Amino acid sequence: MLNTLRKLITEVSAAQNLEEALTIIVKRVKQTMHTDVCSVYLTDPLNEERVLMATDGLLPEAIGKVRLARYEGLVGLVCERAEPINIDNAPEHPRYKYFPETGEEQYSSFLGVPIINHGQTLGTLVVQDRHRRRYAEEEVTLLLTLAAQLSGAIAHAQASGRIQMGQRKRNSGGDKPFRGLAGAPGVAIGVGVVVYAGADLDAVPNRYVTDIDAEVLAFENAVAQVRTEMAQLRGQLQHIPAEDRAIFDAYQLMLESDSLIKQTVQKIRRGNWAPGALRETIHEHARVFAGMDDAYLRERAQDIRDLGLRILSRLQSKETAARTYPQQVILVSEDLSPTMMMEVPSTQLMAIVSARGSGSSHVAILARAMGIPAVMGVEDLPTGDLNDVEIVVDGFQGFLFIRPSPTVLREYKRLRKEESALTADLLTLKDQPAVTLDGYRLPMYANTGLLADIRSSLGHGAEGVGLYRTEIPYMVRDRFPGEQEQAQVYRKILEAFAPKPVYLRTLDIGGDKNLSYFPIQEANPFLGWRGIRVSLDQPEIFIVQIRAMLRSAVGLNNLNILLPMITTVEEVVEAQRLIRRVHHEILEEEKTVIEMPRVGVMIEVPSAVYQIKQIAKRCDFISIGTNDLVQYLLAVDRNNRRVAALYDCLHPAVIQAVIQVVEGAHALNKPVSICGEMASDPAAVILLIAMGLDSLSMNAVNIPRVKWVIRNFSRDHTQRVLDEVLRMDGAEAIRRHLNATLENAGLGGLIRAGK
Ligand code: PEP
Ligand code: MG
Repeated sequence: MLNTLRKLITEVSAAQNLEEALTIIVKRVKQTMHTDVCSVYLTDPLNEERVLMATDGLLPEAIGKVRLARYEGLVGLVCERAEPINIDNAPEHPRYKYFPETGEEQYSSFLGVPIINHGQTLGTLVVQDRHRRRYAEEEVTLLLTLAAQLSGAIAHAQASGRIQMGQRKRNSGGDKPFRGLAGAPGVAIGVGVVVYAGADLDAVPNRYVTDIDAEVLAFENAVAQVRTEMAQLRGQLQHIPAEDRAIFDAYQLMLESDSLIKQTVQKIRRGNWAPGALRETIHEHARVFAGMDDAYLRERAQDIRDLGLRILSRLQSKETAARTYPQQVILVSEDLSPTMMMEVPSTQLMAIVSARGSGSSHVAILARAMGIPAVMGVEDLPTGDLNDVEIVVDGFQGFLFIRPSPTVLREYKRLRKEESALTADLLTLKDQPAVTLDGYRLPMYANTGLLADIRSSLGHGAEGVGLYRTEIPYMVRDRFPGEQEQAQVYRKILEAFAPKPVYLRTLDIGGDKNLSYFPIQEANPFLGWRGIRVSLDQPEIFIVQIRAMLRSAVGLNNLNILLPMITTVEEVVEAQRLIRRVHHEILEEEKTVIEMPRVGVMIEVPSAVYQIKQIAKRCDFISIGTNDLVQYLLAVDRNNRRVAALYDCLHPAVIQAVIQVVEGAHALNKPVSICGEMASDPAAVILLIAMGLDSLSMNAVNIPRVKWVIRNFSRDHTQRVLDEVLRMDGAEAIRRHLNATLENAGLGGLIRAGK
């Protein structure tokens, strides 16, 4: 049975569209189970009717015509009960409904199983037979397994409006959006420009060459050409922060890396022509990265392939045709790369859409930095169909409207206008303090991990750096950075903000952040060797980092050290002991005054919430890392799309935990900050004001939005809202209530498109 199932699923996966897939399913299931009929009924989301979508056995004319009300007939009964219905004499059943157009009266036995996706019943998969029989348990489970396998594909096709319920035209009249992941906020309207990777690396064959020197030269010329192009592209990007241009530095590094170039040249010298040698090298490198657990490093496999394709296209043709673009480009690709994006003049690029990738892909990061909306991971994107087509992109919700209807278009034009006005208004808040209507001041700090962010952070009105993620300088190198190297980086950030405070976090690797030169392979990396655990087990690495931090702060005195992933009091004690020891050693070596920095703890693990007083007693300040705290409190992997709906910082348990931390730390007069994403969630900010947080730290671009919330509420008002929220049982109700509070205060533009 397993084999049958596997074969069927392979066949279904190869289908061009859902109609074809359903046709294959009904045909194969009927053959495999030796039944007389197999049919699929799906729910029409417009009216909840169950529509016969495919059949092998009933009359084909009935497809699209047979429609049952939501719980009508045996098909409806399967949906109502959400369980298999297995009966040997269907026509006698009180719920049996006869449709003359199916020719169905001749069938006695009926087995129907529900097609369910994430708790939602999408339809019914049915088999029928002329002779009376009850289906065997094995047959029931086979049908159930198939329905479960199908459900994801159907849900997606339905959500994207690609299932034809006999009433809509394909890919048009777009009131029904295609859904992807929200990659960068904003709305845009423009014309689709579909870009493909310039050449197909996989299709390159091996070829034996005799003039090896000429081949090596051709390869080196192609590399040089790509290098120049990259430098030019980078040069055109002066308007976006340098860290977001860093991808081009990474490309340059790869282009200069001995391994990539030398290995290809070696392969050419062994007799393969340049394109074949290049393909082999790129595959070898990409395979290593693609097999890594760490999401950041897996993305690098794509960078390497992208680079390989560029070199290949230069090898294949001496010139690339200059392309002209429409005035308002919605750039669409199966797998958009930063270089594809950069080839469109930035004034014409309105939004990006990629069938692959997520919010953490480089193109999404670039889009956020450029302030253009992005929708990522639109699985069923009909890319072949989208050139020169009008498209509306909603980056808040991850929606895409293809050939939008006049109503959708009108609405989004209005939203786009309002949004431009809102963005302009918000930037005027840059120099205004973050203070409530009744005078409660809540400083706004920036989260960063890149020096290049300094200008952007200051530009958005950051009053310091609340979280500097030091692992980023570690990740972009191919070995641990030395004391001097680190000190230079830290000094720049401390200097840029002095006398404003800067909170440097000690190395927080593990989980989804790995170093290529220090791989950590574990079955449960988020519950494994992470953050402070690594630092205390490898004190030589920790000590170098602390020395660099202390040295970088000489004469500035704005350094604060933040310890990540603290789970036990002993970890705080040991880390403090090492920091004091290093401080003492440096004082002896330098004979200059180096102040002991303030040392604080990140509260990210539930155990630390319960021990907040014991921890606060042993440090100078507390910073709540809600990204991890939510993941550990709710047992929801922060990177898993399947459980993404459960990941919510407004879960009552999270709210209680934050209150407990604030109260515990304040009882010992220790200030508390939040540096997780909760600090930039406008709905959550209402509660954070009420709870009495001492500062908030977030990505700089969010500072004006959060400031707007703070400046429009009194602390009194937020305390009343918090009291109401504390009486609620679930995140959904809480979010609804807080969103309504934002709307009533005139701040709805923060949570949806429009002003
Ligand atoms: C957090 O967990 O909230 C946090 C700020 O740290 P990171 O996102 O780097 O894990
Ligand atoms: Mg964290």
